[in-house]
Amino acid sequence: MTEPLNDFSRLCVHTMTTKPWTLEQAVDGYTRAGIPGITVWREHVAPLGAKKAAKLLRDAEMKVVSLCRGGFFVASGAQAREQAKGENRRAIEEAAELGAPVLVLVCGAAPEVDLPRARQQIFDAIHAIEPDAKAAGVRLAIEPLHPMYADSRSAINTLEQANNIVFALNSPMVGVAVDVYHCWWDPFLRSEISRAGKSIFAFHVCDWRTPTRDLLNDRGMPGDGCINIREIRGWVEQAGFKGFVEVEVFSDQYWGWDQEKLVERIKRAWKQHA
Ligand code: ZN
Repeated sequence: MTEPLNDFSRLCVHTMTTKPWTLEQAVDGYTRAGIPGITVWREHVAPLGAKKAAKLLRDAEMKVVSLCRGGFFVASGAQAREQAKGENRRAIEEAAELGAPVLVLVCGAAPEVDLPRARQQIFDAIHAIEPDAKAAGVRLAIEPLHPMYADSRSAINTLEQANNIVFALNSPMVGVAVDVYHCWWDPFLRSEISRAGKSIFAFHVCDWRTPTRDLLNDRGMPGDGCINIREIRGWVEQAGFKGFVEVEVFSDQYWGWDQEKLVERIKRAWKQHA
């Protein structure tokens, strides 16, 4: 099921991986490098607006894989939670306008909201916006985050938790994003990937550096660290996933590079390790 190693037809790069580039520069750079897929971050859409960004992506014939990111549903106040749902409805509209079939959800957490309450708030919010996703034809991918982010970024920390929400909501519009950085340590990863099956909407790769010098912005390129990326990709594909393999690397180190050189580095890393 693995394609020839020189085939980049399933390579997707997140605009956040080449963060210093504008969306125009990223589209131009990826196109010249023969990278067919792009996952667009809202930060890179904002300066242009969704309409112009959509035209740019269409004209370049790039395959928009996902929009990152919605979520951040958790808050102690009801008004803030309503605002979060409103922002997610705008993100769904933006995804539809960009031609992104999936909106990735980083579900949120707040130190003042205990985890069981946070998880209930996340469930309620996804339940509330699901009809909007359905109306727009944009699927929602719950991305579990590594537990080191359970205080402030996501109270959904394992694929099991994400799967439980997906199965409880039982909607074709709600699935999961498997990111090896967040899930590689999980002893139940393989069985939960199998359980997720067709509800795997996205697959993100990068690597875990030792030592990790920054909790957010020190991710490695595939091959820089200790994650068994190929093996996990095999599990995801056995579960039925046939989509893009997305390189998502937040790294102060790589953002400091000439981004043209970084794109070549991404291609090499993807070919050899992803
Ligand atoms: Zn990710």
